[in-house]
Amino acid sequence: MKSTGVIRKIDELGRIVIPKEVRKKLGINIKDPMEIYADSNSITLRKVEDKCTFCGNTKDLIEFKGKLICKKCFDELYKNN
Ligand SMILES: [Zn+2]
Repeated sequence: MKSTGVIRKIDELGRIVIPKEVRKKLGINIKDPMEIYADSNSITLRKVEDKCTFCGNTKDLIEFKGKLICKKCFDELYKNN
């Protein structure tokens, strides 16, 4: 992970603006969901991408009982029942 060289201050509501250039580079758009990771001294923001609940696969997804699941996992589940 490399520094963007940008320093921003957190506002009164705890918000921080992600620089436009960074959003553009990563294809982050208004209202996109971002997952927040934190450890003792850093915070990482990651774009939430649709992925299989079980294996993390991002292709051939279908919605099953409100969860995303890939065709491979779906077939495995189906076969075992
Ligand atoms: Zn899967």
